[in-house]
Amino acid sequence: ASLTESASRCRTLYDRKRFRQGKLFVVSAPSGAGKTTLCSKLLENNKALRYSISYTTRKPRFDEAHAADYFFVDVPEFRRMIDEGEFIEWAEVHGNYYGTSRRTVEGIIDEGGDVLLDIDPQGARQLKATLGYGVYIFITAPSIKELEKRLRNRRTEPEDVMRLRLDNARKELRLFSEYDYIIMNRDFEEAYKHLESVYIAEHLRTKDVRDIYELMEEEE
Ligand code: 5GP
Repeated sequence: ASLTESASRCRTLYDRKRFRQGKLFVVSAPSGAGKTTLCSKLLENNKALRYSISYTTRKPRFDEAHAADYFFVDVPEFRRMIDEGEFIEWAEVHGNYYGTSRRTVEGIIDEGGDVLLDIDPQGARQLKATLGYGVYIFITAPSIKELEKRLRNRRTEPEDVMRLRLDNARKELRLFSEYDYIIMNRDFEEAYKHLESVYIAEHLRTKDVRDIYELMEEEE
């Protein structure tokens, strides 16, 4: 066999391994953009998509549960996890630490499942730089006023924390251009349609369509 032929066979074997892997979806949004509700519906409707539960040193809110919303840990435990390389990314956000488990993400992707991460822009930036793959989605409300209104209506945060979150929202908004997609949440149904369209379209990319390889194998 010629050199080019064996080279192309190697490439195909390599690609097949990659085709079996799932996709990584990274979503960021300022507080109050409606990200959690949008992501919950996407997860409910797409069973191949799994949510990676983050670790945080933030205290649980009244309606949050350990191992469902977050793994709530203390600062020494979080530091230990950083030192042992257990996070694929981590950041300090609104005065608390948040991090994503490397084992969870890599485990799901290697099994062929898709992963959804809900992380802040600092974390998204780290992943984009270190992983070199992933689909990056930014969700926002149409205005700062609207973000503030939604954050106030939520009543999950005391006034000082809310101020901090709004200040950070202004800063985070400037980072939108680092993402592949922007979802403007004016209306929930419309925003959801856009989010799911991204999820679907990403599976139809030429380089990611697995079925075509199965079809080619039939030919062989
Ligand atoms: P919250 O305290 O409202 O649940 O989350 C605050 C911020 O932390 C949100 O922007 C959320 O996306 C982000 N966040 C949650 N988990 C992680 C994580 O594992 N890593 C990073 N970098 N940010 C996270």
